[in-house]
Amino acid sequence: MAQTTEFPFLKEKTIGILGGGQLARMLGLAAGRLGFSTIILDPAVNCPAAQFANHQIVAKYDDEAALIELAGLCSVVTYEFENVPVASAKTIQNTCAIYPPPLALEISQDRLHEKRFIQSAGLKTAQYIPVANPSEMENATKAIGLPAIMKTRRMGYDGKGQIKLGDNYHKHQSNEINDLLEVDCILEEMVDFECEISIIGARDRDGNTACYDPARNVHLNGILISSTLPCDLAEPIIEAAKTQTAALMAKLDYVGVIGVEFFVTKSGELLINEFAPRVHNSGHWTEAACLVSQFEQHIRAISGLKLGSTARHSDCVMQNLIGEEISNIPALLANPDILAHDYGKQQIRPGRKMGHFTTIFAKELP
Ligand code: AMP
Repeated sequence: MAQTTEFPFLKEKTIGILGGGQLARMLGLAAGRLGFSTIILDPAVNCPAAQFANHQIVAKYDDEAALIELAGLCSVVTYEFENVPVASAKTIQNTCAIYPPPLALEISQDRLHEKRFIQSAGLKTAQYIPVANPSEMENATKAIGLPAIMKTRRMGYDGKGQIKLGDNYHKHQSNEINDLLEVDCILEEMVDFECEISIIGARDRDGNTACYDPARNVHLNGILISSTLPCDLAEPIIEAAKTQTAALMAKLDYVGVIGVEFFVTKSGELLINEFAPRVHNSGHWTEAACLVSQFEQHIRAISGLKLGSTARHSDCVMQNLIGEEISNIPALLANPDILAHDYGKQQIRPGRKMGHFTTIFAKELP
């Protein structure tokens, strides 16, 4: 008769992940290669990460009993999205290490706190003003000028919770503005940038840091479309972006991988747009063009292992597969220099990130 085998979880070799989307799925794959088991906590049965994790706790992110159960099974817990309740991260921290530190989570959840924190580290952001009602909006548009961009302070992602305000915003956009003003917002200057880049940085438990090369990112309607390496910027700008990322990580007493997004102005100045305390979509290229991917780097950092090389062996372009584009994978694989990921999401929806692929362009050997 056929038998099933159950593997016991060794606490010291088990990593917990809050959130079971594609980022957790790729973290789980990297963790497995290093001999770790993963346990996912996510309310959705059959989430993308559960298909590869060793175990899933199906529960809400604020379910205290479930969080305590997870903490009891793992040597370290991490998270794959920045809207994990801070209180949940602190519940875990009572009995188990959680990285990145909950402080990074707390700061990144509020655009106003995030920008103030970035400035307190001596780094620059676009100009902004907090706004909570129509009269503050009126004053802020005068001070910032138009066009401008209005964003909710909390819970915005992939372009959601933000609107661009044109010269005639009074006429055309009052309803949209009032809808956003149901919650606290900021008004931000519209940066006429040369390009957008991001740095994926890593910091281990001993404070050693490493940064990957910056990717040049293209967004459409707030959603990342592609990341291109090299970014084709002057070396001093690249070095400055890496130095700033390391400074930010040091100030956060960070452990793990971070994604820092920059606007590069036409005069070559760097403005930090935001940071994500987790592995980042604009770092997916690392699995195809580097020896150690951002996912493995994160697992190494949080579990007390040494960081690996961040050197890039190839030029490359990573492109997201949005909605129905996921069905292009078989055709894409006709190019042998493409590495593709299908996140295994059960439902295709327009605008939903369903997968990605990276095309490698080998560097010429000397
Ligand atoms: P965010 O949610 O802040 O990452 O914004 C998503 C995208 O909107 C960015 O990657 C930019 O392409 C664009 N964007 C956000 N803020 C600004 C800004 N202040 N000026 C120009 N473009 C912006």
